[in-house]
Amino acid sequence: MMKNPFQGYQIWFITGSQHLYGEEILSEVEEDSRRIAEGLNLSEQVPVEIVFKRIVTTSQEILQVSREANMDGQCAGIVLWMHTFSPAKMWIAGLRELRKPFAHLHTQFGRAIPWETIDMDYMNLHQSAHGGREFGHMVSRMRMNRQVIVGHWQDAAVQTELGSWVRVVMGYTEARTMKVARFGDNMRNVAVTEGDKVAAQERFGYLVDGYGIGDLKAEIDRVTEAQADALVEAYARDYVLSPECQPQGPRHLTLRNEAKIEIGLRTFLEKGGYTAFTTTFEDLHGLPQLPGLAVQRLMADGYGFGAEGDWKTSAFTRICKVIGYGKPGGTSFMEDYTYHFSDSGDKVLGAHMLEVCPSIAKEKPLLSVQPLGIGGKDDPARLIFTAASGPALNASLIDLGGRFRLVVNTVDTIEPEQQLPRLPVACALWEPRPNLSVAAAAWIYAGAAHHSVYSRNVSAEQLEMLAAMWDIEMILIDKDANLRQIRQELRWNEAAYR
Ligand code: MN
Repeated sequence: MMKNPFQGYQIWFITGSQHLYGEEILSEVEEDSRRIAEGLNLSEQVPVEIVFKRIVTTSQEILQVSREANMDGQCAGIVLWMHTFSPAKMWIAGLRELRKPFAHLHTQFGRAIPWETIDMDYMNLHQSAHGGREFGHMVSRMRMNRQVIVGHWQDAAVQTELGSWVRVVMGYTEARTMKVARFGDNMRNVAVTEGDKVAAQERFGYLVDGYGIGDLKAEIDRVTEAQADALVEAYARDYVLSPECQPQGPRHLTLRNEAKIEIGLRTFLEKGGYTAFTTTFEDLHGLPQLPGLAVQRLMADGYGFGAEGDWKTSAFTRICKVIGYGKPGGTSFMEDYTYHFSDSGDKVLGAHMLEVCPSIAKEKPLLSVQPLGIGGKDDPARLIFTAASGPALNASLIDLGGRFRLVVNTVDTIEPEQQLPRLPVACALWEPRPNLSVAAAAWIYAGAAHHSVYSRNVSAEQLEMLAAMWDIEMILIDKDANLRQIRQELRWNEAAYR
C-alpha cells in the first residue's frame, strides 16, 4: 500500500478585492469566500483541504500573504479568486515573490443572474468577469505560469479540474523534496538514460544520490530468516505461485533470496528517506540476482523506479504515482518493447526484463522464477501479468542538453488477441493515438526515450499542468496529432525554450 502523500498539506484560498465598496461589501465577500472554500472541500474530486486564508485589498497585504505562503511548509499551492475588481498593480509585489504554484479560479459566487432583482449591489458582489481579467493581465504580463479555471464553483467540471490541478501541485511538491537512490551507474553506452543531475535538481528539486551495490548488499545481509519467512508467506497470499516457487519446489530458495532483497532494499530506502531508486544489471556485485519481484512490489507501494540507472524515469514514476494517488488504474515504469504490425491497427507490446508495476495488472499476477539472458546471475523471481485495458498514456522526460522536454503519447491499452504462454514477463499491449506511424515518428522526432512512465490514472492535461509549473516544454501526441505540426512545434520550441 502506498502511503498517503497528501497528508499534512493544504491549498490556500485567497480572495482579491479592494476598499472601494466599503466594509459591508468586504464582509460579504469574506462570507462568500468561506462558502466557496467549504463547497470545494465537499467535492470528492479535491483531494487536499482548501483553507480560506483571507481577503487581500492592498499591495502590502498581498506581499505579506505571498511571503507567508512561501514560508509555510503545509501550503502546497494557492487558489486565487478575484471576487471584486482588484486593481492589478497591487499584485505586482506579491506575485514577484510568490514561489508556490497557483490557480486562478475565475468564478463568481452567484450562479445565474437574478433577472428580477439584480441591482448595483448585486453587481458589486459579482465582478469576477472583469476583476479576473485585470488580474490575468498582470500575471501574463509578468510571464508567470498558472492554471486558469473557469466556471461556476459548484459545477462538477470546475471541481474536477481544480482537483486535477491540486494533484499536480502535490506531484510538483513531491519533486521539490524527494530523493532518488541510484544503485550503480548508467547502463554503459546508453544515451537517453543519462542527464544532468544538477540541472534536474535546479529545475525539479529532487536529489539523486549514488550508491555502490555493496551498500545495498550490507543491508540485505542483515535480513533474518524469520523476516524472509514472513514475506514469502505474504507472496503466497498476494499472488499465484508457480509450481517451482512452492515451498517444496526447486526455486523456493530463489524466492527467499528475492524476499531478502526486497526487505533489504526497502529498509535501505526507508532509512535514507528515498522514494525512488534505480538498479542496473551491469552492477550486481554481491547480489544473487537482479531485483525483479522486489522492484515490482516497491513500485506497487508507491516507489519510483527506473532500470539501467535511469534516474529521470525513476523520479518521474514517483511523481506520477503521487499525482494519481488513490485513483484507480495504476502507474508503472515501462519500455516500448516489440511491435505488432497488423491490418487491424499497429500495436506496441510494452514490457521490461522484469520490472513492471502490478498496479496496472488486469488479474492476480503469477509469481514465477525464470531465466534472464543478461546480468550473468541466478534466475530472478518476477510477477507475470497482462495490463488491464482502457485509455492510458506513456510519458518520457528527457534531457536535451541545456533543457528538459516532456513527451506524452496517449494510447488505448487492449486485450492481446491471444495468450502469451511463453512470455516470462508482465506486459501491456496498446494502440498509440492517433496510430503507430504518427505516434512513433513524432516520439522519435521529439527525441523521447525507450523508457517511459505508463499511467492509467494521470491524464495528459495533468502532465501539461506539471510541465507549465516546471516551465519546460511538453509535446503531446494524441488523437489529434499531426506530424507536420509536431515537427513545427519542435522547431519553434528551440526558440521558445532556449
Ligand atoms: Mn530498459
